[in-house]
Amino acid sequence: MNMSLPDIDHLTSTLGRTRKDVTILGSTGSIGCNTLDLISRNPESYSVKALTANQSVEKLAAQAIKYNAEMAVIADNSLYEDLKAALSGTQIIAAAGENALNDAAELPAELVMSSIVGAAGLRPTLTAIRRGATIALANKECLVCAGDFMMEQVVEFGATMLPVDSEHNAIFQIFDFEDPQNVEKIILTASGGPFWNCELSEMTSITPEQAINHPNWSMGAKISIDSATMMNKGLELIEAYYLFPVEKDQLEIIIHPESIIHSMVSYMDGSVLAQLGTPDMRTPISYALAWPKRMKTPSKKLDLTEVGRLNFIKPDEEKFPALNITRQVLQIGGSAPTILNASNEVAVYAFLDGKIKFLDIARIVEETLEKISFHKMTSLSDVHEVDENARRVAQEIITGMGM
Ligand code: NDP
Ligand code: MG
Repeated sequence: MNMSLPDIDHLTSTLGRTRKDVTILGSTGSIGCNTLDLISRNPESYSVKALTANQSVEKLAAQAIKYNAEMAVIADNSLYEDLKAALSGTQIIAAAGENALNDAAELPAELVMSSIVGAAGLRPTLTAIRRGATIALANKECLVCAGDFMMEQVVEFGATMLPVDSEHNAIFQIFDFEDPQNVEKIILTASGGPFWNCELSEMTSITPEQAINHPNWSMGAKISIDSATMMNKGLELIEAYYLFPVEKDQLEIIIHPESIIHSMVSYMDGSVLAQLGTPDMRTPISYALAWPKRMKTPSKKLDLTEVGRLNFIKPDEEKFPALNITRQVLQIGGSAPTILNASNEVAVYAFLDGKIKFLDIARIVEETLEKISFHKMTSLSDVHEVDENARRVAQEIITGMGM
């Protein structure tokens, strides 16, 4: 299931209005804070409807007050009283729990920034899709674990999907949606993370602190680890398949350590189009916020003479097995991507907790995929069932490793 040309008319009716209402699912994270930073620079164009977090209750309350949100939701139920206390004396509705995340997504904001990390973002993102909202999608995990289902709902409910992930945002800017058959391939660029030129032997002792230290981007912990294993690029391969009308074998990955070219589209006439910019997520976020227009951002402007040289390297799949695993999983389809995503989430947090080694992450994902048989998924409850089972199996593998 792929997406075709986005429906620009969908938004034109709102363009005459002065301010666009925005809800941010995951407002306390790296993407959430960057989104609020842009909103604070353009108060005449955007207002905040609802903000959500998992446990960062003080940060959430401070954001809700600063941006005069209608509603603030903390996913962790046990923090409800804390949130209520922090918002006392304001008109802001305080709520907690998973259902309240859905209530936030249900409020009539024109644009919903989906920036919760992991499959936890799936339900509220689907809620926003089902009311036909414009979704600025940062949360790639929800598309990986339920891509077919999600994109079907986008079409059924007339929602608009704007990719925020820098590579997909780049492709969105240069892809010929009117004549997709002109596209020969999509080339996803990868920074390669901190270890792309390490020897495999050096990679056995990588610590969470080293892995989290991304050379070009400042991001949340989970995506930083995914970048270091290059699972992030594998997830992005699957993400690209769902977002753009191409076949599975039209997707290529190359390492580009400078993160200046954010991705490319190669056309059948030999032209290759690219989108360039300094690595600052406020550029792709701004594109989604202002779409179909553009807005000014404080991102450092690109000076190619300062960069000097751009490098491109073929990824080493022996050092980064996640790339081969994800390619196979994309080919298999059905429940395989859901299992991949769930087991990767479990393995990444086990690594961050010091329970497994860096190279174990891909091994655990591979073993989980070997242990569970694949099937076609027809409903959201299927997705949840597969996701839960894969988490349990991955956890058992980790426990069995007994580190
Ligand atoms: P962060 O870890 O910085 O932030 C995650 C946000 O989600 C926080 O607001 C967090 O709340 C909330 N959250 C975490 N777990 C849950 C849960 N179980 N239920 C509800 N809310 C939850 O992540 P990032 O901002 O880095 O990434 C967010 C998404 O965007 C990811 O899917 C990532 O892959 C994608 N992305 C990120 C990029 C980046 O530059 N950061 C680039 C491209 C894509 P709390 O603060 O309370 O923990
Ligand atoms: Mg990316």
